[in-house]
Amino acid sequence: MSVTCLDIIHIMEQLAPKKLAESWDNVGLILGDEKKKIHKILVALDPSMEVIEEAVELEADMLLTHHPILFNGAKSIGPSTPEGAQILKMIQHNMVLYSAHTNLDCAKGGLNDYLAHKCKLKSTKLLNKTTTRSLYKLVVFVPIGHSEEVREAMCNSDAGHIDQYSDCTFSSKGTGTFKPLKGSNPYIGQIDKLEHVDEVRIETVVFESKLSETIRSMKEVHPYEEVAYDIYKVEQEGLAYGYGRIGKLENTLSLKAYAHLLKQELNLPSVRVVGDLEASISNVAVCTGSGMEFRYDAVRSGADVYVTGDMKYHNALDMKALGLNLIDVGHYGSEIIVTSMLKAYLENHFGNEIVIHESKKNIDPFIVI
Ligand SMILES: [Zn+2]
Repeated sequence: MSVTCLDIIHIMEQLAPKKLAESWDNVGLILGDEKKKIHKILVALDPSMEVIEEAVELEADMLLTHHPILFNGAKSIGPSTPEGAQILKMIQHNMVLYSAHTNLDCAKGGLNDYLAHKCKLKSTKLLNKTTTRSLYKLVVFVPIGHSEEVREAMCNSDAGHIDQYSDCTFSSKGTGTFKPLKGSNPYIGQIDKLEHVDEVRIETVVFESKLSETIRSMKEVHPYEEVAYDIYKVEQEGLAYGYGRIGKLENTLSLKAYAHLLKQELNLPSVRVVGDLEASISNVAVCTGSGMEFRYDAVRSGADVYVTGDMKYHNALDMKALGLNLIDVGHYGSEIIVTSMLKAYLENHFGNEIVIHESKKNIDPFIVI
């Protein structure tokens, strides 16, 4: 079976729904035809010219990156700007470009969770909450004998997700009554005769974004002409999303030892450290990319150290004064892990139906000498 670009988009958006992206961001399919058949993907942090040339060399049909292109509402595309030249090169080689950026940063199981995992954190929580997805309860009444089919159809549309569990539903048996009126075409019963039918009440939770799809799938397999169902808005918070994570180390380490551990785990030539190198580190806050804007969240969260990238001189002075230790692993250092993460994620879904390469040309522009 061949895989299309749309199949890959569908799987990517299960991990990182586009709705989670910031309004200034540019995520999703940026270039190319979603119907294109995909045999080979190159995964990279940036769609730089070196990476695009690597994709051409590998004969990849699709480039999947974390950082997007066309951020600034360009009015023309030409070879005189780096971005224009990159786009022209991709078009010339019939390449598809897809990016998952701030939506992947915020996603559950996304890049911040992966960084927290690489930084050896346990029991992680959000550092900065951005959005929650509203939750609904869907209740449907099904004649006995059809309940499993209806339950499956709803769960296949992603209803019944509670945190790390799928297919969460509840069923109870009861008696339904109805009287088919003139003009109806009842599956069970006769016109103008009150019917008593053994039915199953199936209830499940569903996110707002999946509600109409779930109802459509449920109706498709439900035998009744007029399906009886109810939708309730539930009061408890839906899934929360956001930037950064805070968690605990299994064993307390000194700041110096932890900085060495991160260098090794993230495979970096150097990291920058602010604070007392002998300080005990147990609670750790992390954020991928440029996380300094969340430094006060890290202070409030009670972190012993904040691990992120793009630290500025005055941020360092301020945080030192507030007693928050910092480890700057670099923007690149905190995000290049995206290639191994997405490779593993896609291979898990597509097996050997597609070939996935991690870019070797996506290198840190900063050189430590
Ligand atoms: Zn970034």
